[in-house]
Amino acid sequence: MMITPHVLVGAALATRISNPFALVFFAVVSHFVIDMIPHHDYDINPLKKKFYKIFIDGAIAAASLWYFIAPMPFEQQALCALGGFFGIFPDGLWMLHRLFGWKFLGPYVNFHYKLHWLLIRDNNKAHPAIGFATQAIAVVLSFYALSPLFL
Ligand SMILES: [Zn+2]
Repeated sequence: MMITPHVLVGAALATRISNPFALVFFAVVSHFVIDMIPHHDYDINPLKKKFYKIFIDGAIAAASLWYFIAPMPFEQQALCALGGFFGIFPDGLWMLHRLFGWKFLGPYVNFHYKLHWLLIRDNNKAHPAIGFATQAIAVVLSFYALSPLFL
């Protein structure tokens, strides 16, 4: 999935999990779980030409996260930021492997890839409409969990 749903789902977990170690664990698990849901990722090949997409996605993730956590007390802000960071962390490792070719991350990258395509057969991407809808649902549910109405 894109950066924004991963970050917001991780942050949303922080509204229910106050132990930072448990939060880090479940935020990382959430990454792999929502990656299994059929979705459509934007194309980032060639990476150097399309890096702006990652930048825009990251900026939207940071801005929407900040929108929700700005009014929170500092401790809750820190927890939500921690959840958001570890929600996207598995893709961060993948990106480090791609950018710098760090071989020790190879087995991890294969593991991530396998989980990513576990429920989507033959590497077929979901139809773009469905693929974006599933991500929109993840974002809306996270907004709901992070909104003051629900806290
Ligand atoms: Zn991923």
